[in-house]
Amino acid sequence: MKINAPKGTQDILPEQALIWQWVEKQVREVFRVYNYGEVRTPIFEHTELFARGIGETTDIVEKEMYTFLDQGGRSITLRPEGTASVVRAFLEHNLAAKTGVTKLFYFGPMFRQEKPQAGRFRQFHQFGVEVLGENSPLIDAEVIAMATEIYRRLGLDALEVRLNSVGCPVCRANYRQALLDHLTPRSGELCASCQRRLVQNPLRVLDCKSPVCQGITAEAPQLDQYLCEDCASHFAAVRRYLDAMGVVYMIDSRLVRGLDYYTKTVFEVVYQGLGAQNAVCGGGRYDGLVQQCGGPPTPGIGFAAGVERLIITLEKQGKLPELSGAPQVYLSVLGDAPKLKAFEIAQNLRAQGIRTELEYAGRSLKAQMKTADKLNAALVLILGEDELARETIVLRNMKKGEQREVPWRELVTVIQEELG
Ligand code: ATP
Ligand code: MG
Repeated sequence: MKINAPKGTQDILPEQALIWQWVEKQVREVFRVYNYGEVRTPIFEHTELFARGIGETTDIVEKEMYTFLDQGGRSITLRPEGTASVVRAFLEHNLAAKTGVTKLFYFGPMFRQEKPQAGRFRQFHQFGVEVLGENSPLIDAEVIAMATEIYRRLGLDALEVRLNSVGCPVCRANYRQALLDHLTPRSGELCASCQRRLVQNPLRVLDCKSPVCQGITAEAPQLDQYLCEDCASHFAAVRRYLDAMGVVYMIDSRLVRGLDYYTKTVFEVVYQGLGAQNAVCGGGRYDGLVQQCGGPPTPGIGFAAGVERLIITLEKQGKLPELSGAPQVYLSVLGDAPKLKAFEIAQNLRAQGIRTELEYAGRSLKAQMKTADKLNAALVLILGEDELARETIVLRNMKKGEQREVPWRELVTVIQEELG
């Protein structure tokens, strides 16, 4: 029986992988100039970390985690997101002691047992950043500006930045009460999930995609009217800095984000063209998280961005780069005698950084030329017994259709000229 990849996972094949490498390179370059260091955390963690770090009543922890007991009976979870792991590593290695502000980024696979659909997978990839130890609204604005810079650099347009403030535990408690007062009389009309949310985490009702729930929350009081003085002035400063930097955004008072740990600034980057799963990036400030994970009071802010949705957006906007995985040189061998020399020449070209493919099977010239053509090689080298005796090789430029005989010792120079 044939075994396929599990539902919700994907193989990234060589041609597609070129696009992934290109995306990763651009993203890393942006992180570099903003002075972020990379952190590579394990793909699995103790389940407790996510339960504590993400929140027991979130969709992720309630129903999306890949959790299992390992051979030693420990509860292990494949990481569903990056922030909890980064905070754990930050505390475990006492990174706060190294510099005043810690700026970290990651890039890698995440796992959530969700219903697979367009732009939603069970194994997907995120890149993201976390800044630990800085309160200033300047860093909020910088993090948002950096996210938009990544998409701009990749050539994307028509992305929208949505911005909101969810306040701190103090002002949020006041708002929560006001929201409850508004929603409770109409709770019977809410969808089943929201009836549950109403009890556990009423702010999440604002997030619901159901039109009925959205209708009910449309008239609900808005969070920004409940912000305390500190949260309100922080939010005003973030907006002022973004305005000054020319970062375009819209205030979305429904934006509360799915995770419990956010405080003050929250934001998302969306591309409407993606349909239902339109968020490419989401993030915000989480001033309580480090403490919740057992550390000292430490402010934090970050975002996570989906790579699959980013690549779908590039596709939809016609912005995929043209990348070639073709060999520069196909080395064709005729007969047995030249095989060893051909191998030696191929190794020499590779050592010079020239992408080289070699004929292994010793087929007819016609068959070899067909392969070179299929591989889209720019140059073909042909080594037969005559060339071996003369210490030369035939070089054919496939595009120009020209060929000539080149002495071995001039080969690298001639190839470099031909390749431009
Ligand atoms: P959504 O509302 O689409 O479920 P989310 O709020 O759960 O998103 P985050 O946890 O904030 O998403 O993750 C940040 C980004 O990671 C998202 O904006 C999205 O681009 C991507 N992402 C999240 N879940 C998935 C998934 N299952 N498959 C593909 N990408 C995802
Ligand atoms: Mg989700």
